[in-house]
Amino acid sequence: MSHLLIVEDDELLRDGLCAQLTHAGHNVSSASDGAQAQALLESTRFDAVILDLGLPVVDGVAVLKWIRQRLAALPVLVLTARDGIDDRVQGLNAGADDYLTKPFDMAELQARLQAMLRRSRMPAFGGSLEVLGATSRRLRVDPHLPLAWLDDDSIELTHREWSLLSLLVSNLGQVVGREDVLAVWQSEPLESGTGGSNALEVYVHRLRRKLQDSGLAIRNVRGLGYMLELTTA
Ligand code: CA
Repeated sequence: MSHLLIVEDDELLRDGLCAQLTHAGHNVSSASDGAQAQALLESTRFDAVILDLGLPVVDGVAVLKWIRQRLAALPVLVLTARDGIDDRVQGLNAGADDYLTKPFDMAELQARLQAMLRRSRMPAFGGSLEVLGATSRRLRVDPHLPLAWLDDDSIELTHREWSLLSLLVSNLGQVVGREDVLAVWQSEPLESGTGGSNALEVYVHRLRRKLQDSGLAIRNVRGLGYMLELTTA
């Protein structure tokens, strides 16, 4: 059973969502403004948040940014009545995992929510991620925040670099398929200047540079994907 937080100021919609998602077997809490949501998030562990963007007291985009600074891996599904592309980009840039425009279909919301919860339970986001490179340097990846360290030196990572690295580390010595990476990325914030079909190669290239001297290498397995392995040299 997942513990969900629904943040919505429209009482009718909030009550409807609570009733339906409770009926679907979730444990549901709710908040009617951004400040109430922040208070709940500080005191309680949730598996996912359904967040309206237009909220009183503290705006939804501000709540989303606040969540990303503290709980980077917490899945957030954004709801909004706004339909401008600018708002959509703003929401995704602020760190929404998925996005629905009102009015939405309840079955679609449930499907998106399930997909989001399933992704967040992937092993890449589970326990501690640690690997010892061939040069005996230790690479550690934080399972919740976009942070990693080589011994005690922190490695600067964007959110996408971090999720790619998490996947590679948790599958050390095994091929991670392009689709697997793209499926995880689909749920993540956009990063500017990195779109297009070569995006994955760009990120792999960047990670390779950051892992220089780590004793670890990202091998391109033609037609299949990428694999993290110990360097042999
Ligand atoms: Ca609203």
